[in-house]
Amino acid sequence: MHIESIPMWEGSGNNYAYLVTDEKTKKAVIIDPANPSEVLPHLKKATDSGIKLTNIINTHHHHDHAGGNVEILKSYPLPIIGGKDCTKVTKTPAHGETFTIGEGIKVKALHTPCHTQDSICFLFEDGNDKAVFTGDTLFIGGCGRFFEGKAEEMDTALNKTLGALPDDTKVYPGHEYTKGNVKFGVKVDQSEAIKKLEAFADANKQTQGKFTIGDEKRHNVFMRLDDPAVQKFTGKTGRVNVMAALREAKNSM
Ligand SMILES: [Zn+2]
Repeated sequence: MHIESIPMWEGSGNNYAYLVTDEKTKKAVIIDPANPSEVLPHLKKATDSGIKLTNIINTHHHHDHAGGNVEILKSYPLPIIGGKDCTKVTKTPAHGETFTIGEGIKVKALHTPCHTQDSICFLFEDGNDKAVFTGDTLFIGGCGRFFEGKAEEMDTALNKTLGALPDDTKVYPGHEYTKGNVKFGVKVDQSEAIKKLEAFADANKQTQGKFTIGDEKRHNVFMRLDDPAVQKFTGKTGRVNVMAALREAKNSM
């Protein structure tokens, strides 16, 4: 599979849309094309080169993810796969439901309610190549705010649902938030893994697709709720209490 990152609102929202193509059949999907003026030129270039778009995919209903749907549909009348509250959604897959893109890519929908109740992460598999598009649920070194859910749901989303994916699954989040996340991470814990992420974020503007679920388990404090250093920082014990305290601390940073 070929993944093209399309940065949107650089310097403010720092969102990513992703164009994912099955190399054998040239069939492709566009994930979260929220800002049409930045995404449409990429889609035109792709379709001019023979790529056939089959779907829009949305990770959740927020405007900076699903807000481009109406405008994109004017040029590309595609079915939309996404959470139940996404604008113009045509199909909301069940948790664990699979579908294919072309012949090579198998996609599995993973319901991860908390940031929004309709949040879905999408695992893409092509042979040994695995990528997960996590929207505003999992960021590199962080997680989304709990707008429509509770700490317990984020623990389930990050540590049961996404934590169960193979360690070598690459993470493609909905925003480039790594610098801010790691700034918080080093306050919580000064482990080698977190310092390594800090150095990477200092040296690289983009971090999407550069880290795996295995890396997140080492450098993402929201995936280390049983770590004594993380518990000590929050002054709490018990996974849900630690998760809630971490999120509150990050919010007020
Ligand atoms: Zn969001």
